[in-house]
Amino acid sequence: PPDSEELGRATWTFLHTTAAYYPEKPTPTQRANMLTLLRSLPTLYPCSHCADDFGEDIKVHPPDVSGRASLSRWLCDRHNEVNKKLGKESFDCAKTDERWKDGPAD
Ligand code: FAD
Repeated sequence: PPDSEELGRATWTFLHTTAAYYPEKPTPTQRANMLTLLRSLPTLYPCSHCADDFGEDIKVHPPDVSGRASLSRWLCDRHNEVNKKLGKESFDCAKTDERWKDGPAD
């Protein structure tokens, strides 16, 4: 099976970066495609227990694809759920853009 740590980092990088550059006012097609992307993970993500838990989590917390800020926040919260499960530190969601879009202010 794939190295789940490497796969996880790569996947979070892709997802957070894609959310950071998602439009503030997405078209219906963009919303639908983002929903399909996120809803695909529970069936396709190649770590089956990760995929199962993520599927349960997004059933309780459905994706908010209404715009960039809300999607980024939703994803940060989902990642923090995984962090909690793994005993990792919680990430401050106010820093999501700094981490994934703008870079640190100096
Ligand atoms: P990662 O958690 O990969 O984070 C990468 C970087 O993202 C961090 O360095 C930090 O800068 C930033 N970051 C951290 N938290 C947030 C946040 N909340 N919002 C925005 N940015 C943040 N592993 C398992 O062992 N069991 C599982 O059940 C499991 N489920 C997963 C489900 C999904 C959908 C994904 C994508 C991954 C899952 N993983 C799981 C992998 C796990 O989340 C980590 O990716 C892996 O353990 C490597 O962790 P890391 O400490 O290198 O940082």
